[in-house]
Amino acid sequence: MVGAPASKLEISKQLRDEMNTETLRVEGKRLRESLEWMAQFGSTPGGGVSRLALSDEDREARNIFIQWLKGIELEVTVDAMGNIFGRRAGREKNLPAVMSGSHIDSQPNGGRFDGILGVMGMLEVLRTLHANKIETRRSLYIVNWTNEEGSRFSPAMVGSGVWAGILDQQWAYSRADLKGKKLEDELERIGFRGSTPCRKGPVHAYFELHIEQGPVLERVQKTIGSPEGIVGILWADAHVQGKANQVGPTPMEGRKDALCAAAEMILKVNELPAKMGGNLVATVGEIQNSPNSRNIIPERVRFTLDLRSWNDELVHKAWEELKSDFQKVSKRRGCPVRMEEIWRVDHAPFSPELVQMVRDASRGLGLEPHPMVSGAGHDASYMNQIAPTAMIFVPSIGGRSHAEVENTSWEDCEIGANVLLQCILKKANE
Ligand SMILES: [Zn+2]
Repeated sequence: MVGAPASKLEISKQLRDEMNTETLRVEGKRLRESLEWMAQFGSTPGGGVSRLALSDEDREARNIFIQWLKGIELEVTVDAMGNIFGRRAGREKNLPAVMSGSHIDSQPNGGRFDGILGVMGMLEVLRTLHANKIETRRSLYIVNWTNEEGSRFSPAMVGSGVWAGILDQQWAYSRADLKGKKLEDELERIGFRGSTPCRKGPVHAYFELHIEQGPVLERVQKTIGSPEGIVGILWADAHVQGKANQVGPTPMEGRKDALCAAAEMILKVNELPAKMGGNLVATVGEIQNSPNSRNIIPERVRFTLDLRSWNDELVHKAWEELKSDFQKVSKRRGCPVRMEEIWRVDHAPFSPELVQMVRDASRGLGLEPHPMVSGAGHDASYMNQIAPTAMIFVPSIGGRSHAEVENTSWEDCEIGANVLLQCILKKANE
C-alpha cells in the first residue's frame, strides 16, 4: 500500500528502540577481542605496535577493518585521502548524520590503544546496535582517519584536516616521509586512494573516544575524562648550519659546531615554560645530526619543536621568544639557524552541549566524570571546526602513551564505549 502510514508494528518498534537505549550495553569481551586482533598488525616485541600511516601494516589493519564493517552490513566508502567510512542508514536518510571514529595508524613503537580504541569503540557500538536490531532516526558513520599521527608524514591529522576543508589535498599529497616517499604515492601503493572525493558532508555530531595519554585520570582516580577542548599547538623545525672538519687537528677555538649550538637551543626550549608560566609545554623530540660521525665536527643539525597551551597567546609569545633566543646562540657560535613554522592550530573548545552529554552519560553509568583539557591534538580538533564535537577519555595506565607500554584496562575500554554508545543514541534519535 503505497503512501500508507507506518504500520502499528513499525511504530511500536521505534518506540521500543528508543526506550531500550538507556539500558543497552556494549559487549566488553568482543571489544577486547577486536583490539587484540588489531594489535597484531605491526606488533612489536615490547608489546606495542608500529603501524605507521600507509605502511603495509596499516594496509593489513585497514583491510580487516573493512571486512568487519561489511560484516554488520555497513555501506563502506574510501575517499581520496584514504579515509574509510562505514555508514549505517537511519530512518530519515536526509538528516545530517552522527559520526564517530579515530585513527588506525600509530607512532613508531607506539601503543595498542592510541587511536584504535576510538575506531574499535565505535565499531563495538555499531555491532551492539546491529545485534540488538536497533534502528536510529539519523544515519551513523564510523570513520578511520588517515595519518593522524603525523610521525611518518608531517603534519598530523591530515585525513580529517582535508576532509574538513581546512588543509589542501594537493599539499597533503605532496608530504613526504624521511625516505622521500610521497603520501599520494603511498596511498596508491597500498590501494587506499579511494574514488570518493575527500570533502565534508553535514555532520549532526562528532564524538571521539580516546585514551587520555596523560597521568591525570589515574591521579584523580576517575574512569571518564571529559575534555572542554584541545590545546593550541605549534610545530616548527630548526635547521642549524655549522662547519665540518677533522676533530683532531682542528683546535677548539673558532669551531662552528652545529650540534653544540643545537644543544644550547634545545635547553632554551626546555627552560622556557618555567620562565613564561601558564600551562605551556615545550618539547624537542626529534633530531638529525649530519654527518653524524665520531671524528667529524657536526655540520648540520635539524630538530623539531612542539609548543602547546590552552592559551594561544602564550604559544605565540613562546615562539617569538625562542626565535630571538636561537638567533643569539647562533650569532655567538657562528652557526646560522633557520626556523620554519610548519603547522599551527589554535586551542579549540568543544561543543558545550556535547560535552554535557558525555558527562551525563558517564553519570548515567554511575561514574562522576573528570573535567579537563586535552593536551594532545586529535582528529576531533578539525571536526570541531565544522561540527558539534566532543571527546571521551579513559585512563592511560601510568600516564604513558606513544610508547610500547601504553595500556588501558579492558574494563575502562568497555566503560568508555558504553559512554560513547549512550551519546551516539541520544544524538542519533534527535
Ligand atoms: Zn590518537
